[in-house]
Formats: sequence, C-alpha cells, structure tokens
Amino acid sequence: MTLEDAARRAAAAVDQERLWRRHMAMAEIGRTRVGGVSRQALSGDDIRARALLLEWAAARGYEPAVDDIANLFVRRPGRDPDAAPVVAGSHMDSQPLGGRFDGIFGVLAGLEALEALDEAGVASARPIDVVAWTNEEGGRFAPGAMGAAVFAGQMRLDDCLGLTDAAGTRFADALAQTLAATPGLARRRFGFPIAAYVEPHIEQGPQLEATGNQIGVVTGIQGARWYVVEVAGEPGHAGTAPLGGRKDAVRAAVATIAALQELMHDETDQLRFTVGRIEVLPNSPNTIPAKVTFSIDFRHPEAAVLEHRGARIADLCRRFAGPCEVTVTETFNRPPCVFPVRIVDAIETAAHDLGIPYLRLPSGAFHDANFIADLAPTGMIFVPCEKGISHSPAENATPEDLTAGARVLAATLVELAGSAAA
Ligand SMILES: [Zn+2]
Repeated sequence: MTLEDAARRAAAAVDQERLWRRHMAMAEIGRTRVGGVSRQALSGDDIRARALLLEWAAARGYEPAVDDIANLFVRRPGRDPDAAPVVAGSHMDSQPLGGRFDGIFGVLAGLEALEALDEAGVASARPIDVVAWTNEEGGRFAPGAMGAAVFAGQMRLDDCLGLTDAAGTRFADALAQTLAATPGLARRRFGFPIAAYVEPHIEQGPQLEATGNQIGVVTGIQGARWYVVEVAGEPGHAGTAPLGGRKDAVRAAVATIAALQELMHDETDQLRFTVGRIEVLPNSPNTIPAKVTFSIDFRHPEAAVLEHRGARIADLCRRFAGPCEVTVTETFNRPPCVFPVRIVDAIETAAHDLGIPYLRLPSGAFHDANFIADLAPTGMIFVPCEKGISHSPAENATPEDLTAGARVLAATLVELAGSAAA
C-alpha cells in the first residue's frame, strides 16, 4: 500500500501556524491561573468552545449538525452525499484541572485536515465529518465517554438525564442549555452509519517522546479489570494482644498485595497493575486493624492475559491472607479493543510515506474510540506529549508534533474516504 497523490497533497497543505493558533485560542476558553484548562462538559466554557468551532467551520461552509446528547458534527461533503461518512475527532471537554491538548487536539486536527483538503483541492468520495463527543472526561457528570457510549447504543440517554454534578445541576438541564445555544442545527440520529472513525489524541504516556517518534500508530486500547478486596481481621489492643493469635488485617493485606505484585510481574512491561486505594479500619495507631479494603486496577492489551491472571486473583488473595477472611469483588471488566488491520495499516502507511517517524503501540487510557469501535472500523493516531503528562496544567505538546499528527490524519482521511477528481 502506498499513499496516493491526493493524500500527499492534503497532508502537505496542513498549516502548522493555523493549527497552533487554534489550540491557543481554545486554551483561552476555560483557562486557569496555573496555565491549564478547566472546560468541563456542558459548562459555559464548553458551550463557548463549541461556538468557536462552529464559527471556524462556518467560514469554510462546512455543514454543522448535532445529536440528542449534543455530540457535535461538522461535515465536509463528499461526491456521494448518501455515502456513510468517514469521521475524525475526539472531545472538547477537559478534566477540572486539565491541560490544553487532551481531546481538543483530535477535534482541531480534524478541522485542520478538512481545511487542508480544501486548500489542496482534494475532493473525497465520502463525506468527512469532524466530531466532538460530549462529556468524555466524566469529571462533572460520571461516567466518562457518555456521548460516544450513548451514540454507540451502549448507554441510554434516559439513564444520563437524571445524573447531577457536584453543584446539583441535572445533566438534562445542562444538556438542554448546550443544545439551546446552537439553535437550528440539523439533528443526527444516534448510531448513524460510519464508514471509518479515526481519533487523533495526545499519547498521555511517555513512549513516543522516549523513542523519538512523532506518531503513535495505535493498535488498540488495552482492556481493564477492576476489583475491590476486603480483608477482615479482628480488632484488639496493640499493646496487649500477643502477635501469635492476632487476625491483623493490615498484615494480611500487605502480604496479599506483595503476592499480587509477584503474580502481575511482566518481563515485557506491558501489564499495568495498581493498588491505588487502601482503607484501614479503625485506622488507629494502637488498635489491631480490623479491616482493610483495597482496590486493584489491572490492565493489558491482550484478552488472554486479562483472563488468566485475573482468574488467579481471588484464590491468591485467600492463600496469603492468613487467618483473615477475604472477599474479592470484580467491579469492572472491559475487554481489550483491537483496531482492524485495515485502519491501522492506513495510518501506518500515511506516517511511513510522509517520512514521519512512528511507532505502533496500544493505548493505555480509555477513549471515545473504545465505544465507536463497536460500530465502525476505528483507529487512533497518537502524538507525543511532554514527559507523558496529561490531566494536568503541565500537559504540553509541540506545534511540530501536533502538525505531524494532523498531516497523518489528513492523508489517512483521503485514503479512507476515497479521493474523487476535483
Ligand atoms: Zn482525552
């Protein structure tokens, strides 16, 4: 597979200065004093970001549309108006103290790609849509990726409407306000046919920077299993009870966690295992701990690894807990998402033929792409972020790397949407 001429011309027309200027304009919306962005889903700042995107799209004559959960679409028509579109994008909302690139890069790279096609005089056979999915971060209204999940039919809009944020605002009201801010937009239905979906995103990990690559050709999104482990002991006086007869829940939990660390050892360093929360009862320095509750977050790109090691967790916990009682509850299980070879290859070919250094890698974090992958052939393009930091005001990326991502996207979209003589 080699890149066709139209794809090369579109990639070459990507404008680094414009792309960077737009990131900085978006970073003004919800800018925090510490330099990051707080642009939570369906907030006034989210509404302002949507308006700015629509303004830029209108200047090009692209066709805006919205669905009932305020997923926002901007279409550059193709030669065949009835063909299912190729869709590119991500999200515009941020964490409460987020950065300037997470999510918004995918949307702005999508818009930049459309404009590059315009400027290169490339017409596509299929329409190309830029999408901004609603509420990816889930920081205001949990869970995250709500827009993509509802669109993909994995969550019902009705189940979202009654949710409230910390201030007591109902999701239904914030949604109505957001939709009312853009009256007259064409309405799309959930789950309309999509020929392919490509999501550009900052890596949120250190691999691209460490290896000197500008593009991550994402092979899929790793799966995750989450557990809560309860270790029940018996309280007693720290000064009087002999060690021999104790049921010390901390002692049991420490031994169990150490054994779990062994179980989860991975020479290839692909497996992710985290005990991130430990609660001790009664949490008193001179009382034998009666109960410990701890969390397990276990992730891997391969279903077999998640299956096999996950299956051993409960048994191992019981073996290492000594005289204490252990209960293990699985609270979440999401299988890995493997992107189709056709999309991964298209992205890789674009990076390769454009002479941009790239690396194949799985995504460690969840994305809207998790959900859209169930509906449509899906892929992701990563660009480096400084030290792998995200969800932080310190999140940073270079204009050059963002541009590389937009170039690969533009070329990939032309390939996937099919070029038509201009
Ligand atoms: Zn994101």
